[in-house]
Amino acid sequence: MKNIIVYIFICTLPVCVGSCQNSTSSQTPKNSSMKKDSSITELSKEDWKKKLTPEQYSITCEGGTEPAFSGQYWNHHEQGMYKCVRCGNMLFNSDTKYDSGSGWPSFYKPEQDSSVTTKTDLSHGMIRIEVVCNKCGAHLGHLFDDGPNPTRMRYCINSGSLNFDDKKTEKKK
Ligand code: FE
Repeated sequence: MKNIIVYIFICTLPVCVGSCQNSTSSQTPKNSSMKKDSSITELSKEDWKKKLTPEQYSITCEGGTEPAFSGQYWNHHEQGMYKCVRCGNMLFNSDTKYDSGSGWPSFYKPEQDSSVTTKTDLSHGMIRIEVVCNKCGAHLGHLFDDGPNPTRMRYCINSGSLNFDDKKTEKKK
């Protein structure tokens, strides 16, 4: 991960990736070790439109980006697990969340290396690293190399791609 050349840009622009059926992408997954759930990955764009809010759809299926300081979780400090809004994959633990000042939820590492995958994003004249859910392919955000120790990485993630489960909720399950 540390050898990846990352050009640091503020992630305010919509990005190019479509991760739902019938969309096109020229990008290549770099980490696909997690078993894909065909009941999720085979859903159509219309299926997702019915399941998600318009903002969740825009972000996870069309690579959109919520405005900074607008999302549900950028200033959220409870202890628990941030899961994929589409498939429930456990993505980020609150223990790795920190205040980056960017206005988006920021984490220094995913729950497991296999929780997410990365792709090169060449949209908008920039070279960026896109972060997607490794289970369903939902667009989550971007990866930058200006994070804190111990990884020095910043996973800049849209609130609209996440669902939060606090520890009390986790224990009930
Ligand atoms: Fe997912």
